[in-house]
This record gives sequence, structure tokens and C-alpha cells, in this order.
Amino acid sequence: MTTVALLGTGRMGAAMARALAAAGADLILWNRSPGPARALADELQASVATSPAEAARRADICLTMLADEPAVAAVYGSPNGLISAGRPGLVMVDLSTVPPSAILGLEPSVRASGAGLLDAPVSGSVSTATAGQLTLMVGGQRDDLERARPALEPLARRIFHLGPLGSGAAMKLAVNTVVFGLNGALSEGLVLAERAGIDRSAAYEVLVESAAGAPYVGYKRSAFVAPEATPTAFALELAEKDLRLITAFADDLGVPVPQAETNLATIRQAEVSQGVGADLADVASHLRGQAQIPGGRV
Ligand code: NAP
Repeated sequence: MTTVALLGTGRMGAAMARALAAAGADLILWNRSPGPARALADELQASVATSPAEAARRADICLTMLADEPAVAAVYGSPNGLISAGRPGLVMVDLSTVPPSAILGLEPSVRASGAGLLDAPVSGSVSTATAGQLTLMVGGQRDDLERARPALEPLARRIFHLGPLGSGAAMKLAVNTVVFGLNGALSEGLVLAERAGIDRSAAYEVLVESAAGAPYVGYKRSAFVAPEATPTAFALELAEKDLRLITAFADDLGVPVPQAETNLATIRQAEVSQGVGADLADVASHLRGQAQIPGGRV
């Protein structure tokens, strides 16, 4: 049986571990703070590794789902990191949202170890990951993708192989440009309807069923309709990180992204009013708070 190591048991990593366990994977977990990995391993009857290197030694496929570029650099490149235990036959797959340059920077040392490497960032959220319904955007060599498939299929509704290493990361930034635009527009439309006297749930139901009713609108329903009662699925600080990556990447490519710049500014304001740990849907809570000024403009 293929052994899969999953490194990073945060919100998305834990959801992915549940999907892999449901598919019957032989699973090894590692997390920087060991507590969450241990608790999840108990729940899923998985085992725990004490370092990324140990996870790599014991697994056929290593999946990483980490916050950002410094986290990826540490988990792959530290003295006890994944690369230190790289070997032919092992494939490492980074599913985090990081810039293409992050994965390209890992390539020489991963290849020198003999292991394979893919970038495979995901579109979806905690609920989609738990259900194994993510969209995966893969960059890298086809033979590495075929070796990683047993660990990727249980996570995904669709797997797109987009080209060489870094292509998945580039596509993910393009997708998130659209998702953040939708989130901002959804927040504005919802608060506008509420201020016009329409019940929030009724307004949201119309948005779900309208021409704007993308999957995101459907699975974020409780976060928008009942934000106080819904746990954070995607923290504002990670949204800010993504928008910083998008605007920097667009700058490198010479592409104007005025909508992404506006969303970055709004999300920074929402972090101040709602707290960094609040959910992306709390952009609506932020606008709602501003709209309480009589006659004030949002
Ligand atoms: P999260 O809940 O904040 O989890 C972040 C994970 O990264 C934790 O396991 C954390 O470990 C680890 N980490 C942070 N800094 C580290 C470091 N320096 N060294 C080692 N590990 C480190 O975030 P998430 O929501 O799961 O998101 C993970 C990635 O998926 C991000 O790149 C995000 O942009 C992307 N993403 C998220 C969603 C979503 O809906 N949440 C959807 C698509 C993509 P500790 O527990 O020790 O802090």
C-alpha cells in the first residue's frame, strides 16, 4: 500500500487528512506544533512523524499544506527537512498557496536528492477538502504526477496538469484573483440588500440562485449569513498574503490588477476591524460595521 505523509495539519491540512483517511490511505502526519498532529492522528488512526525528514523516510508521497513561503522553505530546507531525506521514488507535492518562485527555488535540491517535486495548489475550502472535492492545479513532470496520483485523487474533483513546475502556483494566483473579486462583490451586494431592508438569509438565497451563484457563494453561505456562529475557514491574514502575492506577481508580469489592489486594501481594513483570525466572509461584517454611520458611504 502507498504510504502518504501529510505535513501541516492546519485547517486545510486536517481536512485533507480526513479525506485521505476516508479513502483508506496509510497516513503519517507531521505538524510544526505537535499537538494538532497527535490529536488528528488519534482521530484517524494515523501515525505521527517527529520531523519532516522522518516523514519522508517512511512515506512514498509527501504532501505539504502550509501557511506561506517561509513555512515551505523551513519544512523542505531545514536540516531535518524533507529534502534531507529525499531519494529516488519519493515524490514531494506542495499544495500550499505560494508564488511560483518558491517551488522553483526548491527544485535543484529536491532533484539532486533524487526525489520528484510538484506544485499542486488547491481551489476550494475546508468543507470541499473534507469531501475530497478540491480542484488541483498541478505543475511539474507527468511521471511525478502519475506517482503522486494515489494521494491526490482522494482530495480532488478535478486535477489539471498545467505545465512545468510553477504552473500550478501561477494558475492558483489567477484563480484567487477571481475568488477575492467575487468575495468583495458578494460582501457589497449582501450588505446593500440588507440596508435596503431585505432579510439577510433571503438576500443570500437570491445570490446563490442568481447569475453570480458560483460554488464559492454556495459553500460560504453560513459564513456570510451567520458569521458569529461559523468557525473561520480561511483567515483574513492568509487572504492578505495571497493578495500580496497576486499583486507582486502581476507587477512582475506587467499586468494591471486594479480589482485585486482594491481587494487588498479592503482586506487590510477588515483585518483591523474584525481581527486577523476572522474569516474572508467577514469582509461583509466589516462593510456592515461601516454602513452603520447614518448616511455614511461604504
Ligand atoms: P492554517 O490553518 O493557518 O494552517 C497553517 C499551517 O502551516 C499549520 O499547520 C501551521 O503549523 C503551518 N505553519 C505555519 N508556519 C510554519 C512554519 N514556519 N513552519 C512550519 N509550519 C508552519 O492555514 P490553512 O487555512 O490550512 O491554509 C494552508 C494553505 O492553504 C495556505 O497557503 C492557504 O493560503 C491555502 N489555502 C487555504 C484555503 C482555505 O480555505 N483555508 C483554501 C485554499 C488554499 P502550526 O499549527 O504549528 O502553526
